[in-house]
Amino acid sequence: MPVYRNIGEFLEFINISNDEFTIFEWKPPKSFRRFDLDLNIVKENPLSDIFFHKDKGNMKIVHIRNNNLIYTVGASIKVQFQLLEALLEHVSFKFHETYDIDVILSYSNFNPNIFNNFKEMIEDIIKNFADLDLVKRIQVECRVCRTVLPLFVKRSFIQNAESYPVPIVYVHEGHAILCFIDQNFQHRGVELVNITG
Ligand SMILES: [Zn+2]
Repeated sequence: MPVYRNIGEFLEFINISNDEFTIFEWKPPKSFRRFDLDLNIVKENPLSDIFFHKDKGNMKIVHIRNNNLIYTVGASIKVQFQLLEALLEHVSFKFHETYDIDVILSYSNFNPNIFNNFKEMIEDIIKNFADLDLVKRIQVECRVCRTVLPLFVKRSFIQNAESYPVPIVYVHEGHAILCFIDQNFQHRGVELVNITG
């Protein structure tokens, strides 16, 4: 079964914070792991409106800061970054749709328990993730692996692109391919690229 069909099994946490504290956190049932250190590192990044990826060996972390809130997800390394970005975009959208965040956070007696019901919404998002149509699965050929690989791209990434085809680098198994995706989610060429960083 593809990962995005049961993404919940691969998630470690979803966290929404401001610069001071956690506003909301979801973890799988029976998970007692804490991610304070990772979240503190994430908070130190002041840049807004761009997704950041971190590969921690046994876990991937994706985060984005927007409107003074920081959204973070931790997952198994089996989950492609684009899936995690799509998930966070949707979580952020639903969070703002459900709550008037700025007003709530402006209360001096603000209590994070107010967001407890959002856990159910997160469970729903996770359960129905594949049916939300937030991602597209594209088959690309890698000359190094000599196989066809599934590449997931966010629908929003293609739809909000300024021009086509859109380049995306797919890093896997210690090497990377550069794929060009057109507005119909078809790939228009794949090149082997060098990586540094
Ligand atoms: Zn390959």
